[in-house]
Amino acid sequence: MYDDNNIFAKILRGEIPCNKVYEDDATFVFMDIMPRSSGHCLVIPKSPARDIYDCDEAALAAVMKTTKKIAIASKKAFDADGITVQQFNESAGGQVVFHLHVHVIPRFEGVKLRPHSGDIEAANMLVENADKLIAALS
Ligand code: AMP
Repeated sequence: MYDDNNIFAKILRGEIPCNKVYEDDATFVFMDIMPRSSGHCLVIPKSPARDIYDCDEAALAAVMKTTKKIAIASKKAFDADGITVQQFNESAGGQVVFHLHVHVIPRFEGVKLRPHSGDIEAANMLVENADKLIAALS
């Protein structure tokens, strides 16, 4: 069951702030506040979907289309050596927020990911990284 009080539903409704990177009719992209690597952002469908089982195929296709766009922009924006794309389902699968989302994480040779849901990033870094992604998208 989708719970529309989850934190990403609140971000979509503008009830809590985020560092927005991109949106189109079907998807929304914003910075992860506890990045596993600097520049980590999240792609979500605008329509309610708890996880991959619950998400209709058109919304999922739109999320993946945006994910590709963001992965290309992320590589350019951060001069990344690679990009990790992750998507978790249910607590046992590592999911913490129950609105489907795809993680897009810039990677650098020899640099390990920080812990999942670790430290909150400095606000100015989130703004700076969102701006870099926005510039790379234009
Ligand atoms: P998961 O559900 O395990 O795929 O991960 C949820 C992700 O959401 C984690 O990477 C968190 O750092 C991130 N997160 C949690 N709250 C917020 C928020 N208010 N704004 C941006 N990212 C968030």
